[in-house]
Amino acid sequence: MVKNILVVFGTRPEAIKLAPVILELKKYPNLYNVIVCNTEQQKELSNQTLEFFDIQADIKLDCMRENQKLVDIQSRIMLKLQDVFNDNTIHATIVQGDTMSVFCGALVSFYNKIPVFHIEAGLRSNDIFEPFPEEAIRAMVSKITTLHFAPTNDAVQALKKEGIDKNVFMVGNTSIDALACLSDEIMQKSDKFLENIDKEKLVLATIHRRENHGDRLEVICKAIKDLANKFKDHSFLIPVHPNPNVKNKIYEELSSISNVMLTNPLEYPMLISVMKNSKLILTDSGGIQEEAPSFNVPILVLRYETERIEGVNAGFSKLVGADYNKIISEATNILDKHKKDTRIIKENPYGSGNASIYIKDYIDIFFKR
Ligand code: UDP
Repeated sequence: MVKNILVVFGTRPEAIKLAPVILELKKYPNLYNVIVCNTEQQKELSNQTLEFFDIQADIKLDCMRENQKLVDIQSRIMLKLQDVFNDNTIHATIVQGDTMSVFCGALVSFYNKIPVFHIEAGLRSNDIFEPFPEEAIRAMVSKITTLHFAPTNDAVQALKKEGIDKNVFMVGNTSIDALACLSDEIMQKSDKFLENIDKEKLVLATIHRRENHGDRLEVICKAIKDLANKFKDHSFLIPVHPNPNVKNKIYEELSSISNVMLTNPLEYPMLISVMKNSKLILTDSGGIQEEAPSFNVPILVLRYETERIEGVNAGFSKLVGADYNKIISEATNILDKHKKDTRIIKENPYGSGNASIYIKDYIDIFFKR
């Protein structure tokens, strides 16, 4: 019998990391009917991203509101998701990561006694407020998950520490699979974006995490401003997150600096093109910490904790938090050198791009039991 698998997501990173899994399962229509459900927690970003993989959402829940509070978005998604379960026969629910859509997707599925398959299971910073609320969400989701797809051995061990050792599979991170899912044509088009930029001296910066809003963002902006003034021949490209807490501050502090380029969020293939060509990346993003090692690019992580410690241990990333002196000194260390001397030539610790194939294999085994 064909199994109906509901894939619930709502944000850009989930769309990116679920796309390879959706595409893999869709190769087997005799086994799986994939129902793609976008809560639209981040409406534009999630829908736009899915298109690059040639995937359309079957169900859109239109849950996003301006300046949405956690409780509001949670209640909206929960209620609308229950309707999806009322209207469809679901045999399993797939969620990825640690957003509110993941929490609600897993919880509503659990309330309906439908197995939850959690992709990117076992990430832990061990500080319940960093990142907030994601650290708590991913730990809560692990409690009600049937199949745990962990990206790394550290993630497997983190689950074990919490007493979760059954149905835990180390598969790699699907973010690495996603890098290979974009067509050559799309990538060639995206590479054009950088035609007039000196790729030897390009710095990418992204900031969006809730815990970096406010005072920390002020410090980060000041550090970027001073770095841009110190390294006048370098270009600092910042795709600015649409959250007004981030956007307003960044434009206020950095828009007048000639070698700082502020853009709207970049389309995923364009972001990958920029990442591939960057000399240095400053970021608080989780996904970027995973992707950049595929292109040997050093990363300064604008956070005090990371659940992606593998990149730090392998020498790709350094935690600099929102510490002005650390950001300046670590960035200066790298920017003072020629780009070729800053590359980190090692394997990406987050996987080799086969995660979605392994996930499909384990799902096959689950349904054959
Ligand atoms: N990304 C993108 N455009 C941008 C910034 C990021 O497509 O302007 C991609 C990035 O390559 C990565 C994902 O979005 O795959 C990361 O999303 P984000 O930083 O919003 O969330 P996190 O990974 O921290 O949860």
